[in-house]
Amino acid sequence: MGKIKVLSDHLCNQIAAGEVVERPAAVVKELVENSVDAGARRIRVFLEKGGRALVRVVDDGEGMSPEDALLALERHATSKIATAEDLQAIRSMGFRGEALPSIAAVSRLEMITREKEAVSGTRIVVEGGTIRSVEEVGCPAGTSITVRDLFFNVPARRKFLRTVETETAHISDMFLRLALAQPELYWQLVHHDRTVHDFPEATSLHDRVYHVFGAALAKSLIPVDFQTEHAAVRGLIGPPELQRANSRSLFLFVNKRPVKDTLLTHAVLTAYDTLLPKGTYPFVVLFVDVPPRLVDVNVHPTKREVRFRDPPLILDGVRRAMAQGLESAMKASWTRPFYVSSESPRPAAAAAAESRAGLESLPPWTTSAPAARPEPIPIPWPNPLPEGFPAPGSSREERPFEPTGPPAFSSLRILGQLACAYILVEAPDGLILIDQHAAHERISYERLMTGFGSAGSQRLAPPVVLDLPALEADAVNRWLPALQSLGFDIEPFGGGSFVIHAMPSVLKQTDPAALIRRLAESTPAEERIPRVDLMEKLAHTAACHASVRAGQRLNLEEMRQLLKDLDATRLSATCPHGRPLWWKITLDQIQRFFQRT
Ligand code: ADP
Ligand code: MG
Repeated sequence: MGKIKVLSDHLCNQIAAGEVVERPAAVVKELVENSVDAGARRIRVFLEKGGRALVRVVDDGEGMSPEDALLALERHATSKIATAEDLQAIRSMGFRGEALPSIAAVSRLEMITREKEAVSGTRIVVEGGTIRSVEEVGCPAGTSITVRDLFFNVPARRKFLRTVETETAHISDMFLRLALAQPELYWQLVHHDRTVHDFPEATSLHDRVYHVFGAALAKSLIPVDFQTEHAAVRGLIGPPELQRANSRSLFLFVNKRPVKDTLLTHAVLTAYDTLLPKGTYPFVVLFVDVPPRLVDVNVHPTKREVRFRDPPLILDGVRRAMAQGLESAMKASWTRPFYVSSESPRPAAAAAAESRAGLESLPPWTTSAPAARPEPIPIPWPNPLPEGFPAPGSSREERPFEPTGPPAFSSLRILGQLACAYILVEAPDGLILIDQHAAHERISYERLMTGFGSAGSQRLAPPVVLDLPALEADAVNRWLPALQSLGFDIEPFGGGSFVIHAMPSVLKQTDPAALIRRLAESTPAEERIPRVDLMEKLAHTAACHASVRAGQRLNLEEMRQLLKDLDATRLSATCPHGRPLWWKITLDQIQRFFQRT
């Protein structure tokens, strides 16, 4: 007698449910994705007890015929793919044909559905995978699926469900991601009698983000729009100041599918590089659209992960898109083109138009006439302009003044030094304070990072001896190969002693022993540290060490040189430790303080 048996469909569905239905949030995701695939315009989700007692998704999509409604509950039954070729080019959210039967196998499910043209609809009740009733009913066009008592027949799984608050939080997070991906749809999430989310149909991602996260956040975001040969990358990304403590602030989508993908996440974070302090995350809503043949979505049962067929091809585009967005935003944030009004004072009509457009709540970016002109007239100007708001300069009395050439700190007038720590410069629209130490650190850091590898290694004569406590010595011993590849020649002598024979030429102005010591002290003794991280840490340490300190008086020439060097750095908004590097007080703020507006 053989030992191998073919499992029943019922058992297969329960097994599949183990993967597909982790928790109520997964039920919401699968049902909502089906609604999106069915062409729904309005999607409403109702919950009881964090989805443990009830999840109901109601849509106004294409609905199902009585035959299809029954088939939909069968394993591997789908209307979305038919052939192996289809699997290579998936355009729908679903395709595996296993969500409905899996959910039905571990809950009490009720499906009510009607096609638009049909006179009546169908109601099917399933309990733990067994169909209890099928009947003809009167109902609105579209589909409503109710999932009660999730895992009622799988006690082991029910035990893993968390508190109502936790499960609701998971659902809310999933709901937000799906709603961000489909701004043109109406979305509602109701928990018992409380409306948790209610997002009206939007015409753009920006509007949806505005509804989801509020005006303050939405207006600080930087638009990204980048097209490579193989991918379109677009979205809204936060400036580095908008720091978050965890990666839940990353909303990443591939072909409109919310994903948690390590490679993609890494590509996105690389763009913020040294702009963010370690352990913090940016706010990013990013859509990567690639031809379906270049991405495999069939690698994870809940389709949370994707596999790019040629990762560098796509990820390089992502990195470039992010870098471009960030770079332009950094420059724009302190030298915006400004607008000159020929009338003075500001016409009341303009002020009224602004308040109608809700501009009084906009950030205090002001624009003003150049210093040479009399009467600077501030006109708040959001960037990007909200839709429907006329661009400044479009009316006759306002004309744009474009700054010539790329914006540059060194083109601004230096007013002096404050407290031996800050350089004061005059910007077209205010006063900029530059943290001299942070600025210099950024400059040195960039120089070092570009210099590594290219500048070679330099012998030390005589060699330098270094003695370290056990833990630090242990760390350095582990880093030896990486340090060597960067141009160090360090010989361990045992007992925490090392002899440094050579160091990378770019670091020649630093004391090698002090550098290695500080590196070892400031870095937890990790098992392995990637070469590039080590390079960054070295550059940080060396840059901080070599930089002008706060408390050092600088003459005009030194300040001018610092600003010139700063202009030459790639991203000059924050120091390598993520601290802000400069701060602008706008004329508008000054005028408001003096009650001149
Ligand atoms: P998949 O989405 O992978 O095709 P599902 O088990 O989630 O598999 O759904 C099976 C089928 O049921 C779908 O292919 C679709 O034809 C139909 N279906 C499910 N939900 C809906 C809905 N809300 N509206 C219309 N059709 C639906
Ligand atoms: Mg589905």
